Amino acid sequence: MFRKFFTSAAIAGLIATPAVATDWTYEDPETGADRWGHLHTDFEMCERGIMQSPIDIGHANATGEIPVSVNWQEGPLTILNTGQTVQANFAAGSTMMSGGKTFNLVQVHFHTPSEHAVNGERYPLTAHFVHASDEGELAVLGVMYVAGESHAEMQKLVDAAPAQAAEAATVEGVMFDPAMLLPDGGDEIEFYRYMGSLTTPPCSEGVNWHVVPQPVEVGADQLAAMESVMGMNARPLQLLNGRLLVAPE
Ligand SMILES: [Zn+2]
Repeated sequence: MFRKFFTSAAIAGLIATPAVATDWTYEDPETGADRWGHLHTDFEMCERGIMQSPIDIGHANATGEIPVSVNWQEGPLTILNTGQTVQANFAAGSTMMSGGKTFNLVQVHFHTPSEHAVNGERYPLTAHFVHASDEGELAVLGVMYVAGESHAEMQKLVDAAPAQAAEAATVEGVMFDPAMLLPDGGDEIEFYRYMGSLTTPPCSEGVNWHVVPQPVEVGADQLAAMESVMGMNARPLQLLNGRLLVAPE
């Protein structure tokens, strides 16, 4: 059902620009996260879904490894502000292999604070690297950031992020390497795995989540800059509801 619903052509648009982007917020009493499921018939999974994201990955109930490899390419920086998040879009050619399936990197966007928590703790910033297979199945890789050393690749995003909602634009003369935002450039990363959802309306399920528990250092000023552009844009934690949550071995 999920694959039928999401044609691959629709995916980039769906994630980048939710159907009724201006009708939902995070904290407004009428349109905030607790009300999403009532705002539009397309959003009902936000209320009714039982495999929703984000969750606390401290509640893992299994351990195991599956073969995963990330093969992302450096390319021109294309960035936008959706009004809810700062997002960079990617050209075809960057992939993630997970569980024997190939997923194409479509975009990365950010949340302040992090959406997934580790034993109740949320980090100040997270990146969600959104991938789609040719069949329309989604896989997201989540990475958390903490205050520490300044990060050159993050600075490119800080410098280019539009302060207000703005359509995608390619930044002249700036090359962006998404792998630099992974721990140690992506070598031997470990992550938690579970089946969840988009964390924004329409909260569609069937998303293969990969959450990296090891945070990456970025500058405190870089965290503050991202927070000042996006504001609070983290959905409340959702119930695990008996799902399998697999920790790295
Ligand atoms: Zn996200």
